[in-house]
Amino acid sequence: MALLETTADQTELSDSDIQALRAQLRGPLVLSGDASYDEVRKLYNGMIDKRPRLIARCVDVADVVAAVNFGRAHGLLLAIRGGGHNGPGLGSCDGGLVIDLSLMKSVWVDPNTRTVRVGAGCTSGDVDHATHAFGLAVPFGIVSSTGVAGLTLGGGTGYLTRKYGLTIDNMLAADVVLADGSFVTASPNEHADLFWALRGGGGNFGVVTSFLFQAHPVGMVYAGPIFWEAVHAREVMRAYREFLPTAPEELGAFVGLKTVPSLDPFPKDYWGRRACAVIGSYNGPAEEGARIMGRLLESVPAPIFNWMGEMPFPAMQALFDPFFPPGLQWYWKGDFVKSLPDDAIDVHIAQAAIAPSDLSLMHLYPIDGAVHRVSKHATAWNARDASFSMVIAGIDPHPDKAEALKHWGRGYWNAIHPFNMEGAYVNFMMDDEARGRVQASYGDNYARLASVKSQYDPNNLFRVNQNIRPQQ
Ligand SMILES: Cc1cc2nc3c(=O)[nH]c(=O)nc-3n(C[C@H](O)[C@H](O)[C@H](O)COP(=O)(O)OP(=O)(O)OC[C@H]3O[C@@H](n4cnc5c(N)ncnc54)[C@H](O)[C@@H]3O)c2cc1C
Repeated sequence: MALLETTADQTELSDSDIQALRAQLRGPLVLSGDASYDEVRKLYNGMIDKRPRLIARCVDVADVVAAVNFGRAHGLLLAIRGGGHNGPGLGSCDGGLVIDLSLMKSVWVDPNTRTVRVGAGCTSGDVDHATHAFGLAVPFGIVSSTGVAGLTLGGGTGYLTRKYGLTIDNMLAADVVLADGSFVTASPNEHADLFWALRGGGGNFGVVTSFLFQAHPVGMVYAGPIFWEAVHAREVMRAYREFLPTAPEELGAFVGLKTVPSLDPFPKDYWGRRACAVIGSYNGPAEEGARIMGRLLESVPAPIFNWMGEMPFPAMQALFDPFFPPGLQWYWKGDFVKSLPDDAIDVHIAQAAIAPSDLSLMHLYPIDGAVHRVSKHATAWNARDASFSMVIAGIDPHPDKAEALKHWGRGYWNAIHPFNMEGAYVNFMMDDEARGRVQASYGDNYARLASVKSQYDPNNLFRVNQNIRPQQ
Protein backbone atom coordinates (compact mmCIF):
# COMPACT_ATOMS: atom_id res chain seq x y z
CA MET A 1 0.00 0.00 0.00
CA ALA A 2 1.31 3.45 -0.91
CA LEU A 3 2.25 5.82 1.89
CA LEU A 4 -0.34 8.44 2.67
CA GLU A 5 0.51 12.01 1.78
CA THR A 6 0.78 14.78 4.36
CA THR A 7 -1.50 17.19 2.54
CA ALA A 8 -4.94 17.98 3.92
CA ASP A 9 -7.39 15.25 3.05
CA GLN A 10 -10.52 15.79 0.98
CA THR A 11 -12.47 12.85 2.35
CA GLU A 12 -16.24 13.28 2.34
CA LEU A 13 -17.82 12.95 5.77
CA SER A 14 -21.58 12.74 6.15
CA ASP A 15 -23.52 14.08 9.12
CA SER A 16 -24.21 10.52 10.18
CA ASP A 17 -20.46 9.71 10.13
CA ILE A 18 -19.87 12.64 12.45
CA GLN A 19 -22.81 11.66 14.66
CA ALA A 20 -21.43 8.14 14.87
CA LEU A 21 -18.09 9.45 16.13
CA ARG A 22 -19.77 11.83 18.57
CA ALA A 23 -21.79 8.95 19.99
CA GLN A 24 -18.60 7.03 20.75
CA LEU A 25 -16.88 9.88 22.59
CA ARG A 26 -17.25 10.92 26.22
CA GLY A 27 -15.38 14.15 25.48
CA PRO A 28 -16.64 16.88 23.14
CA LEU A 29 -16.23 16.72 19.37
CA VAL A 30 -15.60 20.23 18.05
CA LEU A 31 -16.29 21.17 14.42
CA SER A 32 -15.57 24.24 12.39
CA GLY A 33 -18.46 26.63 12.99
CA ASP A 34 -18.89 25.59 16.64
CA ALA A 35 -18.69 28.45 19.13
CA SER A 36 -15.59 26.98 20.78
CA TYR A 37 -13.79 26.03 17.53
CA ASP A 38 -11.44 29.00 17.30
CA GLU A 39 -10.48 28.79 20.95
CA VAL A 40 -9.97 25.02 20.92
CA ARG A 41 -7.89 24.93 17.71
CA LYS A 42 -5.52 27.69 18.88
CA LEU A 43 -1.89 26.65 19.25
CA TYR A 44 0.75 28.08 21.54
CA ASN A 45 2.75 29.44 18.57
CA GLY A 46 0.77 32.38 17.18
CA MET A 47 2.66 32.04 13.88
CA ILE A 48 0.76 28.83 13.13
CA ASP A 49 -2.92 28.96 12.15
CA LYS A 50 -4.29 25.50 11.35
CA ARG A 51 -7.93 24.65 10.66
CA PRO A 52 -8.74 21.00 11.38
CA ARG A 53 -12.10 19.58 10.29
CA LEU A 54 -12.72 17.80 13.56
CA ILE A 55 -11.22 18.07 17.05
CA ALA A 56 -11.89 15.10 19.31
CA ARG A 57 -11.33 16.29 22.87
CA CYS A 58 -10.60 12.91 24.39
CA VAL A 59 -11.14 12.30 28.09
CA ASP A 60 -10.13 8.64 28.29
CA VAL A 61 -8.45 5.81 26.40
CA ALA A 62 -11.77 4.70 24.89
CA ASP A 63 -12.14 8.13 23.27
CA VAL A 64 -8.65 7.86 21.81
CA VAL A 65 -9.37 4.38 20.40
CA ALA A 66 -12.60 5.68 18.82
CA ALA A 67 -10.84 8.69 17.30
CA VAL A 68 -7.95 6.65 15.88
CA ASN A 69 -10.33 4.09 14.38
CA PHE A 70 -12.53 6.82 12.89
CA GLY A 71 -9.59 8.69 11.42
CA ARG A 72 -8.11 5.55 9.89
CA ALA A 73 -11.43 4.25 8.54
CA HIS A 74 -12.22 7.58 6.85
CA GLY A 75 -8.72 8.24 5.55
CA LEU A 76 -8.40 11.44 7.56
CA LEU A 77 -5.16 13.22 8.28
CA LEU A 78 -4.55 12.66 12.03
CA ALA A 79 -2.74 15.01 14.41
CA ILE A 80 -2.04 14.30 18.09
CA ARG A 81 -2.16 17.20 20.51
CA GLY A 82 -0.67 17.14 24.00
CA GLY A 83 0.20 20.61 25.30
CA GLY A 84 0.01 22.31 21.87
CA HIS A 85 3.45 23.88 22.34
CA ASN A 86 5.19 22.39 19.33
CA GLY A 87 7.06 25.01 17.25
CA PRO A 88 5.62 24.16 13.82
CA GLY A 89 2.24 23.27 15.33
CA LEU A 90 2.53 19.52 14.82
CA GLY A 91 -0.19 19.07 17.42
CA SER A 92 -2.73 20.12 14.78
CA CYS A 93 -3.40 19.89 11.05
CA ASP A 94 -5.28 21.57 8.21
CA GLY A 95 -8.31 19.47 7.41
CA GLY A 96 -8.26 16.12 9.19
CA LEU A 97 -8.87 15.12 12.77
CA VAL A 98 -7.04 16.39 15.84
CA ILE A 99 -6.85 13.92 18.71
CA ASP A 100 -6.72 16.50 21.49
CA LEU A 101 -5.52 14.99 24.76
CA SER A 102 -5.36 18.23 26.73
CA LEU A 103 -8.31 17.23 28.95
CA MET A 104 -6.52 14.05 30.09
CA LYS A 105 -4.78 15.64 33.05
CA SER A 106 -4.60 13.00 35.74
CA VAL A 107 -1.45 12.69 37.88
CA TRP A 108 -0.94 9.89 40.43
CA VAL A 109 2.15 10.00 42.60
CA ASP A 110 3.34 6.89 44.42
CA PRO A 111 5.70 8.21 47.11
CA ASN A 112 6.81 4.69 48.05
CA THR A 113 8.24 3.82 44.66
CA ARG A 114 8.82 7.49 43.76
CA THR A 115 6.94 6.93 40.53
CA VAL A 116 4.30 9.06 38.90
CA ARG A 117 1.61 8.13 36.36
CA VAL A 118 0.89 11.11 34.10
CA GLY A 119 -2.08 11.60 31.76
CA ALA A 120 -1.10 12.64 28.23
CA GLY A 121 -2.73 16.07 28.52
CA CYS A 122 -0.60 17.27 31.43
CA THR A 123 1.73 20.19 31.24
CA SER A 124 4.99 19.95 33.16
CA GLY A 125 3.47 22.44 35.64
CA ASP A 126 0.62 20.00 36.34
CA VAL A 127 3.10 17.27 37.21
CA ASP A 128 5.49 19.51 39.18
CA HIS A 129 2.55 20.67 41.30
CA ALA A 130 1.58 17.09 42.16
CA THR A 131 5.07 15.73 42.79
CA HIS A 132 6.33 18.73 44.80
CA ALA A 133 3.88 17.87 47.58
CA PHE A 134 5.96 14.70 48.07
CA GLY A 135 9.35 16.40 47.69
CA LEU A 136 9.78 14.81 44.26
CA ALA A 137 10.20 15.90 40.64
CA VAL A 138 10.64 14.41 37.18
CA PRO A 139 13.11 16.09 34.78
CA PHE A 140 11.05 18.21 32.37
CA GLY A 141 11.67 21.49 30.50
CA ILE A 142 12.06 25.07 31.66
CA VAL A 143 8.60 26.54 30.93
CA SER A 144 5.76 25.01 32.93
CA SER A 145 3.03 25.34 30.28
CA THR A 146 4.85 22.92 27.93
CA GLY A 147 3.07 19.62 27.28
CA VAL A 148 4.65 16.59 28.92
CA ALA A 149 3.70 14.31 26.00
CA GLY A 150 5.41 16.08 23.11
CA LEU A 151 8.38 17.08 25.26
CA THR A 152 8.91 13.54 26.53
CA LEU A 153 8.51 11.78 23.19
CA GLY A 154 11.14 14.08 21.66
CA GLY A 155 13.59 13.56 24.56
CA GLY A 156 13.16 16.30 27.16
CA THR A 157 15.92 18.48 28.63
CA GLY A 158 15.77 20.71 31.71
CA TYR A 159 17.45 21.73 34.96
CA LEU A 160 17.49 18.17 36.37
CA THR A 161 18.97 16.61 33.23
CA ARG A 162 22.64 16.67 34.22
CA LYS A 163 21.91 14.66 37.35
CA TYR A 164 18.95 12.50 36.31
CA GLY A 165 19.07 12.41 32.51
CA LEU A 166 16.60 13.30 29.81
CA THR A 167 12.89 12.96 30.47
CA ILE A 168 12.92 9.73 28.44
CA ASP A 169 15.66 8.34 30.69
CA ASN A 170 13.08 8.54 33.48
CA MET A 171 10.22 7.02 31.50
CA LEU A 172 9.41 3.56 32.87
CA ALA A 173 6.42 2.70 30.70
CA ALA A 174 3.81 4.23 28.40
CA ASP A 175 0.27 3.22 27.48
CA VAL A 176 -0.27 3.57 23.74
CA VAL A 177 -3.15 3.34 21.27
CA LEU A 178 -1.66 2.01 18.03
CA ALA A 179 -2.63 2.80 14.43
CA ASP A 180 -4.89 -0.28 14.26
CA GLY A 181 -6.79 0.93 17.34
CA SER A 182 -5.33 -1.66 19.68
CA PHE A 183 -4.03 -0.71 23.12
CA VAL A 184 -0.63 -1.78 24.46
CA THR A 185 1.71 -0.96 27.28
CA ALA A 186 5.29 -0.35 26.22
CA SER A 187 7.99 -1.01 28.82
CA PRO A 188 11.31 -2.84 29.05
CA ASN A 189 9.33 -6.08 29.29
CA GLU A 190 6.41 -5.48 26.93
CA HIS A 191 6.75 -4.26 23.36
CA ALA A 192 10.36 -3.40 24.17
CA ASP A 193 11.02 -2.26 20.60
CA LEU A 194 8.15 0.23 20.81
CA PHE A 195 9.38 1.38 24.22
CA TRP A 196 12.82 1.97 22.68
CA ALA A 197 11.34 4.00 19.80
CA LEU A 198 9.04 6.11 21.99
CA ARG A 199 12.06 7.36 23.90
CA GLY A 200 13.01 10.09 21.41
CA GLY A 201 11.12 9.04 18.28
CA GLY A 202 8.28 11.53 18.79
CA GLY A 203 4.63 10.91 17.96
CA ASN A 204 5.41 8.49 15.13
CA PHE A 205 4.30 5.24 16.72
CA GLY A 206 0.89 5.74 18.29
CA VAL A 207 -1.05 7.91 20.70
CA VAL A 208 0.43 7.74 24.19
CA THR A 209 -2.41 8.00 26.67
CA SER A 210 -0.32 7.97 29.84
CA PHE A 211 3.30 7.78 30.98
CA LEU A 212 4.90 6.20 34.03
CA PHE A 213 7.93 8.18 35.22
CA GLN A 214 10.61 7.78 37.85
CA ALA A 215 10.70 10.84 40.10
CA HIS A 216 13.59 12.04 42.27
CA PRO A 217 14.02 13.92 45.53
CA VAL A 218 13.79 17.63 44.67
CA GLY A 219 12.34 20.24 47.02
CA MET A 220 13.81 23.68 47.52
CA VAL A 221 16.47 24.69 45.00
CA TYR A 222 19.00 27.50 44.73
CA ALA A 223 18.00 28.91 41.38
CA GLY A 224 17.39 31.88 39.12
CA PRO A 225 18.98 34.04 36.42
CA ILE A 226 22.24 35.99 36.33
CA PHE A 227 22.59 38.63 33.58
CA TRP A 228 25.73 40.37 32.31
CA GLU A 229 26.08 43.20 29.82
CA ALA A 230 26.64 41.95 26.28
CA VAL A 231 30.08 43.49 26.29
CA HIS A 232 31.09 40.71 28.73
CA ALA A 233 29.41 37.90 26.76
CA ARG A 234 32.68 36.55 25.37
CA GLU A 235 34.25 36.21 28.84
CA VAL A 236 31.08 34.76 30.36
CA MET A 237 30.54 32.17 27.63
CA ARG A 238 34.18 31.08 27.76
CA ALA A 239 34.09 30.88 31.56
CA TYR A 240 30.79 28.95 31.52
CA ARG A 241 32.28 26.49 29.02
CA GLU A 242 35.17 25.74 31.43
CA PHE A 243 33.05 25.86 34.60
CA LEU A 244 30.22 23.53 33.62
CA PRO A 245 32.18 20.24 33.41
CA THR A 246 33.68 20.97 36.85
CA ALA A 247 30.32 21.78 38.47
CA PRO A 248 28.41 19.06 40.32
CA GLU A 249 25.56 17.49 38.38
CA GLU A 250 23.08 18.82 40.95
CA LEU A 251 23.57 22.14 39.15
CA GLY A 252 21.61 22.42 35.91
CA ALA A 253 22.66 25.69 34.27
CA PHE A 254 22.42 26.92 30.70
CA VAL A 255 24.02 29.94 29.03
CA GLY A 256 22.04 32.25 26.77
CA LEU A 257 22.19 35.43 24.74
CA LYS A 258 19.14 37.57 25.40
CA THR A 259 17.83 41.07 26.00
CA VAL A 260 17.07 42.61 29.39
CA PRO A 261 13.25 42.82 29.56
CA SER A 262 11.90 46.39 29.62
CA LEU A 263 9.84 46.03 32.77
CA ASP A 264 10.10 46.00 36.54
CA PRO A 265 11.93 44.63 38.46
CA PHE A 266 14.70 44.70 35.81
CA PRO A 267 17.09 47.67 36.30
CA LYS A 268 15.74 50.51 34.14
CA ASP A 269 19.16 51.56 32.88
CA TYR A 270 19.47 48.20 31.13
CA TRP A 271 15.98 47.83 29.67
CA GLY A 272 16.17 46.63 26.07
CA ARG A 273 19.95 46.14 26.19
CA ARG A 274 21.54 42.96 24.82
CA ALA A 275 22.80 40.65 27.54
CA CYS A 276 24.40 37.32 28.29
CA ALA A 277 22.74 35.14 30.92
CA VAL A 278 23.44 32.02 32.92
CA ILE A 279 20.25 30.52 34.28
CA GLY A 280 20.59 27.71 36.73
CA SER A 281 19.04 25.57 39.40
CA TYR A 282 21.05 23.79 42.10
CA ASN A 283 19.25 20.91 43.78
CA GLY A 284 20.78 21.11 47.24
CA PRO A 285 21.44 23.53 50.13
CA ALA A 286 21.40 27.21 49.12
CA GLU A 287 24.80 27.92 50.72
CA GLU A 288 26.35 25.13 48.69
CA GLY A 289 24.70 26.40 45.50
CA ALA A 290 25.97 29.92 46.15
CA ARG A 291 29.47 28.60 46.81
CA ILE A 292 29.49 26.64 43.53
CA MET A 293 28.17 29.56 41.50
CA GLY A 294 30.79 31.71 43.20
CA ARG A 295 33.44 29.80 41.27
CA LEU A 296 31.92 31.04 38.01
CA LEU A 297 31.24 34.53 39.29
CA GLU A 298 34.78 35.12 40.50
CA SER A 299 36.18 34.40 37.04
CA VAL A 300 34.07 36.99 35.18
CA PRO A 301 33.16 40.69 35.47
CA ALA A 302 30.35 41.70 37.84
CA PRO A 303 26.86 40.94 36.50
CA ILE A 304 24.07 43.47 36.03
CA PHE A 305 22.12 41.37 38.52
CA ASN A 306 22.32 37.97 40.18
CA TRP A 307 18.87 36.80 41.19
CA MET A 308 19.74 33.28 42.19
CA GLY A 309 18.16 32.40 45.51
CA GLU A 310 16.28 29.72 47.38
CA MET A 311 12.86 28.79 46.03
CA PRO A 312 10.58 25.78 45.59
CA PHE A 313 11.44 23.85 42.42
CA PRO A 314 8.02 24.47 40.77
CA ALA A 315 8.60 28.22 41.21
CA MET A 316 11.80 27.95 39.21
CA GLN A 317 10.04 25.84 36.59
CA ALA A 318 7.44 28.58 36.16
CA LEU A 319 9.81 31.57 36.49
CA PHE A 320 9.73 32.39 32.78
CA ASP A 321 6.06 31.62 32.13
CA PRO A 322 4.97 35.30 32.37
CA PHE A 323 7.39 36.26 29.59
CA PHE A 324 6.08 33.59 27.25
CA PRO A 325 2.27 33.64 27.24
CA PRO A 326 0.45 31.67 24.52
CA GLY A 327 0.05 33.38 21.15
CA LEU A 328 3.51 34.91 20.60
CA GLN A 329 5.18 34.45 17.24
CA TRP A 330 7.93 31.81 17.46
CA TYR A 331 10.46 30.71 14.86
CA TRP A 332 12.73 27.87 15.99
CA LYS A 333 16.12 26.57 14.83
CA GLY A 334 18.24 24.04 16.69
CA ASP A 335 21.44 22.03 16.54
CA PHE A 336 23.33 19.61 18.70
CA VAL A 337 26.73 21.03 19.64
CA LYS A 338 29.85 19.00 20.35
CA SER A 339 32.18 21.79 21.43
CA LEU A 340 32.08 25.54 21.81
CA PRO A 341 35.30 27.00 20.37
CA ASP A 342 36.12 30.70 20.76
CA ASP A 343 35.28 31.33 17.10
CA ALA A 344 31.78 29.89 17.59
CA ILE A 345 31.26 32.10 20.63
CA ASP A 346 32.14 35.12 18.48
CA VAL A 347 29.62 34.09 15.82
CA HIS A 348 26.94 33.67 18.50
CA ILE A 349 27.61 37.12 19.89
CA ALA A 350 27.56 38.78 16.46
CA GLN A 351 24.28 37.08 15.49
CA ALA A 352 22.55 37.68 18.82
CA ALA A 353 23.47 41.36 18.55
CA ILE A 354 21.19 41.71 15.50
CA ALA A 355 18.17 39.95 17.01
CA PRO A 356 14.98 41.50 15.59
CA SER A 357 13.11 41.64 18.92
CA ASP A 358 13.70 41.80 22.66
CA LEU A 359 12.28 38.33 23.34
CA SER A 360 14.43 36.57 20.74
CA LEU A 361 17.09 34.37 22.28
CA MET A 362 19.76 31.72 21.93
CA HIS A 363 20.21 29.08 24.65
CA LEU A 364 22.76 26.27 25.02
CA TYR A 365 21.38 23.50 27.22
CA PRO A 366 23.94 21.09 28.73
CA ILE A 367 24.01 17.52 27.40
CA ASP A 368 26.37 15.78 29.79
CA GLY A 369 26.37 13.92 33.11
CA ALA A 370 23.59 11.33 33.27
CA VAL A 371 22.73 11.80 29.57
CA HIS A 372 26.20 10.58 28.65
CA ARG A 373 25.92 7.55 30.90
CA VAL A 374 23.17 6.08 28.68
CA SER A 375 24.38 4.43 25.49
CA LYS A 376 23.58 5.96 22.09
CA HIS A 377 21.60 2.87 21.14
CA ALA A 378 19.73 2.30 24.40
CA THR A 379 16.99 4.73 23.32
CA ALA A 380 16.02 6.31 20.00
CA TRP A 381 17.59 9.61 21.16
CA ASN A 382 21.00 9.43 19.54
CA ALA A 383 22.93 12.58 20.46
CA ARG A 384 24.47 11.18 23.64
CA ASP A 385 27.88 12.44 22.56
CA ALA A 386 26.76 16.06 22.19
CA SER A 387 27.77 18.63 24.80
CA PHE A 388 24.87 21.03 24.28
CA SER A 389 21.48 21.29 22.63
CA MET A 390 21.30 24.73 21.02
CA VAL A 391 18.09 26.60 20.37
CA ILE A 392 17.73 29.84 18.44
CA ALA A 393 14.22 31.24 18.90
CA GLY A 394 12.95 34.38 17.15
CA ILE A 395 10.06 35.53 19.35
CA ASP A 396 7.76 38.56 19.27
CA PRO A 397 4.11 39.35 20.03
CA HIS A 398 3.42 41.02 16.67
CA PRO A 399 2.47 38.95 13.60
CA ASP A 400 4.03 41.58 11.34
CA LYS A 401 7.41 40.62 12.79
CA ALA A 402 7.08 37.00 11.58
CA GLU A 403 9.25 37.40 8.48
CA ALA A 404 11.97 39.23 10.42
CA LEU A 405 12.02 36.45 13.04
CA LYS A 406 12.39 33.79 10.33
CA HIS A 407 15.05 35.76 8.49
CA TRP A 408 17.10 36.23 11.66
CA GLY A 409 16.72 32.62 12.81
CA ARG A 410 17.80 31.25 9.44
CA GLY A 411 20.72 33.68 9.11
CA TYR A 412 21.94 32.94 12.64
CA TRP A 413 21.67 29.18 12.04
CA ASN A 414 23.50 29.40 8.68
CA ALA A 415 26.35 31.24 10.39
CA ILE A 416 26.68 28.91 13.39
CA HIS A 417 25.79 25.51 11.92
CA PRO A 418 29.29 24.84 10.50
CA PHE A 419 30.52 24.65 14.13
CA ASN A 420 27.77 22.23 15.16
CA MET A 421 26.71 18.62 14.64
CA GLU A 422 24.50 17.59 11.71
CA GLY A 423 21.31 16.91 13.65
CA ALA A 424 19.18 18.80 16.13
CA TYR A 425 16.74 18.09 18.93
CA VAL A 426 13.52 17.34 17.03
CA ASN A 427 11.53 19.48 19.46
CA PHE A 428 13.56 22.56 18.47
CA MET A 429 12.79 22.35 14.74
CA MET A 430 10.14 23.93 12.54
CA ASP A 431 8.83 21.99 9.53
CA ASP A 432 11.04 23.73 6.96
CA GLU A 433 14.28 21.86 7.59
CA ALA A 434 16.35 20.50 4.72
CA ARG A 435 15.70 16.94 3.60
CA GLY A 436 17.63 14.53 5.78
CA ARG A 437 17.66 16.64 8.97
CA VAL A 438 15.32 14.34 10.88
CA GLN A 439 17.40 11.37 9.77
CA ALA A 440 20.62 13.17 10.82
CA SER A 441 19.08 13.89 14.22
CA TYR A 442 18.61 10.16 14.85
CA GLY A 443 21.99 9.21 13.36
CA ASP A 444 22.56 5.45 13.28
CA ASN A 445 19.32 4.83 15.20
CA TYR A 446 17.26 5.92 12.19
CA ALA A 447 17.18 2.54 10.42
CA ARG A 448 15.87 0.82 13.55
CA LEU A 449 13.27 3.59 14.01
CA ALA A 450 12.07 3.07 10.43
CA SER A 451 11.82 -0.64 11.10
CA VAL A 452 9.79 -0.16 14.31
CA LYS A 453 7.62 2.34 12.42
CA SER A 454 6.87 -0.22 9.72
CA GLN A 455 5.89 -2.72 12.39
CA TYR A 456 3.55 -0.43 14.36
CA ASP A 457 2.39 2.10 11.75
CA PRO A 458 3.12 0.63 8.30
CA ASN A 459 0.85 3.11 6.47
CA ASN A 460 2.21 6.17 8.25
CA LEU A 461 -1.14 7.06 9.79
CA PHE A 462 0.76 9.15 12.36
CA ARG A 463 2.68 11.47 10.07
CA VAL A 464 1.95 14.96 11.42
CA ASN A 465 5.25 14.99 13.29
CA GLN A 466 8.99 15.05 12.56
CA ASN A 467 8.25 12.07 10.41
CA ILE A 468 10.04 8.74 10.38
CA ARG A 469 8.93 6.92 7.26
CA PRO A 470 8.18 3.21 7.51
CA GLN A 471 10.88 1.04 6.00
CA GLN A 472 9.88 0.28 2.39
C1 LIG B 1 8.07 28.01 25.71
C2 LIG B 1 8.66 26.67 25.40
C3 LIG B 1 9.67 26.16 26.18
C4 LIG B 1 10.21 24.90 25.90
N1 LIG B 1 11.21 24.43 26.71
C5 LIG B 1 11.67 23.17 26.49
C6 LIG B 1 12.63 22.61 27.38
O1 LIG B 1 13.06 23.23 28.34
N2 LIG B 1 13.05 21.36 27.15
C7 LIG B 1 12.59 20.62 26.09
O2 LIG B 1 12.99 19.47 25.96
N3 LIG B 1 11.71 21.14 25.22
C8 LIG B 1 11.24 22.39 25.39
N4 LIG B 1 10.33 22.93 24.52
C9 LIG B 1 10.00 22.21 23.29
C10 LIG B 1 8.90 21.20 23.53
O3 LIG B 1 9.50 20.00 23.96
C11 LIG B 1 8.10 20.95 22.23
O4 LIG B 1 7.48 22.14 21.84
C12 LIG B 1 7.08 19.84 22.38
O5 LIG B 1 6.61 19.48 21.10
C13 LIG B 1 5.91 20.27 23.23
O6 LIG B 1 5.05 19.21 23.50
P1 LIG B 1 3.48 19.46 23.50
O7 LIG B 1 2.83 18.22 24.01
O8 LIG B 1 3.16 20.74 24.18
O9 LIG B 1 3.26 19.63 21.94
P2 LIG B 1 2.06 19.38 20.92
O10 LIG B 1 2.10 20.54 20.00
O11 LIG B 1 0.79 19.08 21.60
O12 LIG B 1 2.54 18.06 20.19
C14 LIG B 1 3.74 18.03 19.50
C15 LIG B 1 3.98 16.71 18.82
O13 LIG B 1 4.15 15.72 19.82
C16 LIG B 1 3.45 14.54 19.47
N5 LIG B 1 2.54 14.20 20.56
C17 LIG B 1 2.01 15.03 21.49
N6 LIG B 1 1.30 14.32 22.36
C18 LIG B 1 1.39 13.03 21.98
C19 LIG B 1 0.89 11.82 22.51
N7 LIG B 1 0.18 11.79 23.62
N8 LIG B 1 1.16 10.66 21.86
C20 LIG B 1 1.91 10.66 20.74
N9 LIG B 1 2.42 11.79 20.21
C21 LIG B 1 2.16 12.95 20.83
C22 LIG B 1 2.72 14.74 18.22
O14 LIG B 1 3.39 14.07 17.19
C23 LIG B 1 2.81 16.23 17.94
O15 LIG B 1 3.13 16.36 16.61
C24 LIG B 1 9.75 24.17 24.79
C25 LIG B 1 8.74 24.69 23.98
C26 LIG B 1 8.19 25.92 24.28
C27 LIG B 1 7.12 26.48 23.40
